[in-house]
Amino acid sequence: MGTRLGVVVEASSTAGAGEAAENVMLEVERFERMLSTWDPESEMHAVNTAAVGSPFWPGSELALLLAEADRYSRISGGAFDARVGALVDAWDMRGSGVVPTPDMLTRALNAAGSGSISVDEHTGTVVRHDAAAWMDTGGFGKGAALRSAAQGLELAHVDRALIDLGGQLWAQGSADEPWRVSVAHPTKRRQPVVHLEIHGVSVATSGTSERFIEIDGVRRGHILDPRTGQPSRAWGSVTVVSADPVEADAVATALYVMGPQVGLAWAERQDGLHALFLQVEDGELTASWTPGMEQWLTDPPESLAPEHQSPGHRTHTHESRNHQ
Ligand code: AMP
Ligand code: MG
Repeated sequence: MGTRLGVVVEASSTAGAGEAAENVMLEVERFERMLSTWDPESEMHAVNTAAVGSPFWPGSELALLLAEADRYSRISGGAFDARVGALVDAWDMRGSGVVPTPDMLTRALNAAGSGSISVDEHTGTVVRHDAAAWMDTGGFGKGAALRSAAQGLELAHVDRALIDLGGQLWAQGSADEPWRVSVAHPTKRRQPVVHLEIHGVSVATSGTSERFIEIDGVRRGHILDPRTGQPSRAWGSVTVVSADPVEADAVATALYVMGPQVGLAWAERQDGLHALFLQVEDGELTASWTPGMEQWLTDPPESLAPEHQSPGHRTHTHESRNHQ
């Protein structure tokens, strides 16, 4: 997955801890082999190069996952959509970057989004409708690997563990001994700005700070808006906490595309997920979060709030933001 994996396991024996940690690594490797869009041997590569117009049957695990990704596209109104492959190509996101001509962009938009590849949840089939269409697993693959690795820990009765897969976390543990983790400043990665105490949840952050391409001196992020075909504006980062790592991963990407205002309003309407937006404007950092996020914040970042509210209004930071 082109990233680092860190595993901390607490167990009653060295052998038990070693075995559990190794199983996490094996599971992540298994997902990488299945989902990689770089490896021509992967199952995902077979899906992405299947004959146009003919149904393709991936294995049931991959079929279910692609149907799940499709569901996140629908509920996010297309802000999240793995079918951005043609746009990734048009902007040469995997190369040195290029601004597509209007023609190229129109063609790529036609080969992206929900009409470009259909995923049938009931039959487990995938049909590509355009030769340029392919699915990029980058927006949910880490979450998928983490979820499966976490289930493995559960089965092995590991009570306390922390997995860090390229910045997305899974925190196995209980309320009396949570993991203390931090969310970095969106553009100063080594500066922690918010601390969370978490257990039984995954934390995913999407932003543009680490990966970007520079075209004509303008930084463009690796997250695309599938609805417009444009790379998302660099506004900061969004962190999502959910018991389901796939949800955390996909929703973080979706919320980044929606942006902090629309994203916050959307996130508030979803059950079981919590979001924290860190916005940088003219060098100023402001934070806003959904009310449910407060259960994980060790010290709500009062000073980062868009306005200094009285303590009683702290939980309604989002409202003051909307009224600005
Ligand atoms: P993440 O870091 O989880 O936000 O995922 C970003 C990665 O997902 C990018 O590097 C692309 O591989 C892919 N991607 C880009 N834009 C989108 C999008 N709008 N929906 C889903 N995946 C995307
Ligand atoms: Mg994601």
